[in-house]
Order: sequence, then C-alpha cells, then structure tokens
Amino acid sequence: MFLRADFDVAVNSNGIIQEDFRILRQLPTIQHLLQAGARIVIGSHITGVSSFETILTQLEQCLGRKLVFCKSFDDVSAFLASNEPVALLENLRRNAGEEGNNEAFAGRIVEGCDYYVNNAFAVCHRTHASIALAPLVIPSFAGLLIEEEVTRLQHILTTPKEGKLIIMGGAKASTKVPVVQYLLDRSDHVAIGGILANDILKARGRDIGTSRVDDDAVGLASALNVYDPRLIVPTDFIEHEGAMLDMGPQSARAVADLCKNASLIVWNGPLGVFENPTYRHATAIIARAIAESPAMSIVGGGDTVASIRACGLELSAFDFISTGGGAMLAFLAGQRLAGLDVLGYRP
Ligand code: ADP
Ligand code: MG
Repeated sequence: MFLRADFDVAVNSNGIIQEDFRILRQLPTIQHLLQAGARIVIGSHITGVSSFETILTQLEQCLGRKLVFCKSFDDVSAFLASNEPVALLENLRRNAGEEGNNEAFAGRIVEGCDYYVNNAFAVCHRTHASIALAPLVIPSFAGLLIEEEVTRLQHILTTPKEGKLIIMGGAKASTKVPVVQYLLDRSDHVAIGGILANDILKARGRDIGTSRVDDDAVGLASALNVYDPRLIVPTDFIEHEGAMLDMGPQSARAVADLCKNASLIVWNGPLGVFENPTYRHATAIIARAIAESPAMSIVGGGDTVASIRACGLELSAFDFISTGGGAMLAFLAGQRLAGLDVLGYRP
C-alpha cells in the first residue's frame, strides 16, 4: 500500500518541528490501514528541510511508531521483503520528477504496492507526480483526511453568501489572487492582508515602498475589480524601512468588527510577518475575533495554524482546521484539484 501523506511541517534552525498538526492529522488513516492489515510505504514532501532524516525521530514520536526510512528505492525493496509495517520514502521533492509530474517517477514510487491512498489534501491542487499520476498506476482511493476535508469544505460552498466573511493573507499571492473575485461574488466581504494586500494595493496604484509583493500576482490583480466595495484592504500599516510588515491597528479592528456579525468565517494566511512578535498584532487581534465570534469558523494553511499557536490560541477554538491553505482556497473557488480529480471527485 502506498500512502501519499503530508508531513510538510515547519522546522526551526535547530531541526525541531514547530507544528505537528499536519502529522497528527495523518494518524487516523495510518491506524485504519494498519488495522486492516496493510503494510504501508509513505511518501511525502517537505520544504523546510531537505531530508526527512532530520526529523525522523520526531516523526516517529508523533506517530507513535517506528518508520523504516528509505533513502533510495533499493531500501524500499528491502522493506517490502521484511515484516516491518511502515516505511517512509525520502522527501519526494528531492527528485525533479515529483514537481515535473514525471510518469516514470510516479511509477517508481508505487512500485511493489498494490493500492494507492491519497491523504495529502494540502497538495491536491498541485500537478505533481505523487498526486496526479501515481494514482493512475494502481487502484487508488482517498484517505480519511481527504474525505473529511472535502465534506467540511463542501458545506461552505453550498451555504448562502449572506453572513459569509473571507479573510485572506499570507504569501503565494499568485495562487490566491485568482480566487479572490470568485469568493467576492459569493460572500459579504473578503478582507485582505499580508503580501496579498500589497499586491492589490500596488494594482490600485498605491506606493508600497519596499514591501514584498508576488510579482506574478500584480498582473493577476488587474483582472480583479480591486475597487469592489466588498473587498476590504488595510488602510494603516506597521512598517519597517519602507516595508509594510503588518496591518495597522485600525485595519485589524475593522476586520475584527466584521467577525462579530458574520455567520461563517473562512480564514487563510497570516495578516503580517507573525514569526516576529513585532508584526503579529493584526494576526492576533483577528484570530481572537474569529475564535470569539459566534460564526462557524473554518481556518486553513500551514503558516496560519502556526500563527494561531504563536498568538497563544488553541486550535480547538475554531470549528474546523483544514490542513490546506492554497488547496482549501482553490477548492472553495470551485476549481478542479488535480489530486481529487484523478480520484474521481468532481466539484
Ligand atoms: P499559509 O501557509 O497559512 O497558507 P502562506 O504560506 O501563504 O500562509 O503565508 C505565510 C507567510 O506570509 C508567513 O511566513 C508571513 O511571514 C508572510 N507574510 C505575511 N504578511 C507579510 C508581509 N506583509 N510581508 C512579508 N511577508 C508576509
Ligand atoms: Mg505557508
């Protein structure tokens, strides 16, 4: 059995996992497969460190079991010949075939496995070999996490737009901007912060100094009605050397006030450089407002989850935490996700 898991966790400079939420979300599916008698070859990518070797012991602790680490495909043959229950492949993205969506690589990673299970919701919007091609090689299924994510997010798609508030921030604006218009048309407000806001402000012709932008997104933002009154952009900022690193208090308050009257809030992306406490205020104010609001709260994204913890809030303060950031938004924008598509899911 091949399991496409998602162990793409943040790791600090001492090699310590900063947030184990994504790892823990894999547990029910792994346990379920083992109880059914499967032996599992787990494949995942990780972006913060180059090799899973760095965090192997911590991964084993989180999962409560030993993992046979397969540095090369030769190690997989040895694992398959053994009686060990669970193996972990080296970081899939170390092979260019993963992001290159290479057919031979897809075949290679599932070699010797009889079934494919995808449980990596956060990368389902990526056309990568382990997501989009490997499931075509052997009979394929969705894992329990994918099933839960799809069920919860589908509910948002079908709720009426009245009372719906979308809050978006963070980076990767080029993947986020294209969904803003879709979400604007289906909600009361879309409140923007982070680099995403810089892109939109730049598209409005505002001088944003040395603030970070996603250059690919500025062109996209011109396709968006950046003056739509339902689009809430920051009006004050916390700056450092000409760069806007956090939303200012007025703007953060305005979004927090919107939270009070919403019935459904979807949030992805920290509103500032939350890693530095100096630029965490807007994220803290807004995260708290979402948690305290009577609205149903759906939150997603690796850094968003990390920012919630950094602000001293419990994940249980929110109704549902998606493991996906970009994938969650793409799903909510009615896009077909390569990884779900290949499993036969149609939006
Ligand atoms: P998620 O993983 O939750 O989807 P992203 O990966 O899109 O979130 O974005 C998180 C990153 O965005 C964080 O590292 C944060 O520091 C950065 N960020 C947010 N606001 C700004 C800003 N104004 N300038 C630079 N970086 C920012
Ligand atoms: Mg991120």
